[in-house]
Amino acid sequence: MADLLSLSSFLFSIITFFFFYFLSVHGDNSTQSSITQINYDLYHSSRNLMDEIKEMVHRHSDRLSMEKVKAGNKGYSAEIAVVTYCKGKKDSAENPKLRILLSFGQHGRELITSELAFRIMSILSEEKHLPGMDEASLNSILDKVVIKVVPMENINGRKLVEGGDLCERRNGRGVDLNRNWSVDWGKKEKDYDPYEENPGIAPFSEPESQIMRKLAVSFEPHIWVNVHSGMEALFMPYDHKNTTPDGLPLQQMKSLLEEVNQLHCQKRCMIGSGGGSVGYFAHGTATDFMYDVVRVPMAFTFEIYGDVTAPSSDCFKMFNPTDLASYNSVLDDWSAAFFTIFKLGPHQLGEIQSKASVVKLDKLVSIDEYLDGYLMERRNRYGKKIEVLELGMQEIRAYYRLFLLSSVLLLCMFCSRISKTKCSRPIVSAISL
Ligand SMILES: [Zn+2]
Repeated sequence: MADLLSLSSFLFSIITFFFFYFLSVHGDNSTQSSITQINYDLYHSSRNLMDEIKEMVHRHSDRLSMEKVKAGNKGYSAEIAVVTYCKGKKDSAENPKLRILLSFGQHGRELITSELAFRIMSILSEEKHLPGMDEASLNSILDKVVIKVVPMENINGRKLVEGGDLCERRNGRGVDLNRNWSVDWGKKEKDYDPYEENPGIAPFSEPESQIMRKLAVSFEPHIWVNVHSGMEALFMPYDHKNTTPDGLPLQQMKSLLEEVNQLHCQKRCMIGSGGGSVGYFAHGTATDFMYDVVRVPMAFTFEIYGDVTAPSSDCFKMFNPTDLASYNSVLDDWSAAFFTIFKLGPHQLGEIQSKASVVKLDKLVSIDEYLDGYLMERRNRYGKKIEVLELGMQEIRAYYRLFLLSSVLLLCMFCSRISKTKCSRPIVSAISL
């Protein structure tokens, strides 16, 4: 009996030992594997990507061009590359084209978005083939558009990610570039986290946002898409409140998004206003500014990929596909989605143009003030009327001041005449009183 007891306690000790040993080994592995590193077999480094884009533009100078725009303040500077696609005749009054502005990589950790930019440019240059699209159809679509692509809006933030800070989404000095725009800027929700959403010290405090604002105001796009990752969604304005625009703009945007969802997202994508669908309000976003201030008729934020099973500390996995099959499927699906937008967009051009001509007349009121920033904050979609009224008031004030000044001068002249004739007092002393 004693032997039996000692044997069973020996066995129990061995089982316990192996149990804890297995647990400790497994535990270590799970900690190590919970942080996925950037897979450079799939992804370009930021430097490689920009070099490859530059070479591609050189190879196709008949349709692609690239400019680099720099800005900076307080010891911080940023540079943004903008690639323009325009084939054949240039956009003009006689030859109007649909103007499309696309931005990728606004958040450093969302590497897949810049890969998509590269894929779209490869198809535009015809170095890559878009499945299901023959050359003639592609050319007829692309003759009607001018496309500006910002492949990596936040290159400084992206470099921090490549340096090992895999969860960084902000720019090189800790500001979230999608909270630094002037529409409803700076408002903070209860769960505000400065590591995620720091809006900066003022609207457009950041060089990257200043560059993007100038680009949008000068280009006047008909379509704007801000491309992100973290989930699968097709958002329209507004991000800062739980409503969408109404009437024709809503119909135009909604029908386009529904088509994209059906054709390229297998109806998985969430559609609606950013603020109403994502579960939180975002204040000071680029898309709300594009719609409200630049008056882009169709302004969107696309979320192209998200791994909801990834732990929140495993940012590379949460925001980017980690295996070849899902990497390719995201790029195939979403590049096709963008070409559907290029194809369907011109069908609405007539309607958009009549709307745009009204906007252009509207914009005759001081473009410098428009760029200045202060007035922007006070504007909404109907804010232009307020500004016109304000200009009227300024004129009345100026006339009133002129009237007062001439009255004083007349009074002085009158006094001087009296003083000369009666008591010879100098004019200066009369004004100084
Ligand atoms: Zn993002």
